[in-house]
Amino acid sequence: MSDSFGPIEQAIPSHPHHRSGWIEVICGPMFSGKTEELIRRLRRAQIARQPVAIFKPVLDNRFSTDHLVSHSDITMRSKTVSTAAEILDQVGDAQVLGIDEAQFFGSDLVAVCRYLADHGKRVIIAGLDQDYRGVPFEPVPELLAEAEYITKTLAICVKCGAPANRSQRISSSSERVLVGAQDRYEARCRACFEAPE
Ligand code: ADP
Ligand code: ZN
Repeated sequence: MSDSFGPIEQAIPSHPHHRSGWIEVICGPMFSGKTEELIRRLRRAQIARQPVAIFKPVLDNRFSTDHLVSHSDITMRSKTVSTAAEILDQVGDAQVLGIDEAQFFGSDLVAVCRYLADHGKRVIIAGLDQDYRGVPFEPVPELLAEAEYITKTLAICVKCGAPANRSQRISSSSERVLVGAQDRYEARCRACFEAPE
């Protein structure tokens, strides 16, 4: 993995005082409030007049192409990008960066986030830590290793009410990426989760 992104590098102004940035990861299953928490942190930064840029992958077009939308319908304007490297193109002079649905970016996202944090940015990433089988969902596990701050959010198990850390797929598809919400997934705890064959 390279730390160099060629001409894109020059597009990102380095912090005048060479102060380092950092990485925050918010991870957990579906419906656990990752997007809500990401929006909460970004709104606080905006209130403090810090320039903010928000990105989501083109794949996640469930509700809107130009907003993050939580399952509770909280929204915030965002930019849609098709690759992690494209984030570097669009950072501009933002100081605080939000990235949602990290699991839909490839492993390039790790180098992109490292580069941004090394260049003084506060990078806040939200994403699923496990896929529908309960298997670690790259690149989120690697981002956890890279991050300074980690928050694990939990949903409420729809079967028993316990804290839920799994996303149960309730449709029969076996594609790893199957975008959907309550129609295709539900939050389940460890005991109620049924791993697919
Ligand atoms: P995530 O980004 O983790 O998928 P969101 O931030 O989009 O989560 O949505 C969280 C919201 O989802 C909650 O505030 C609640 O309104 C709703 N929700 C739906 N199902 C559940 C559940 N089983 N447990 C908790 N919240 C749920
Ligand atoms: Zn349960």
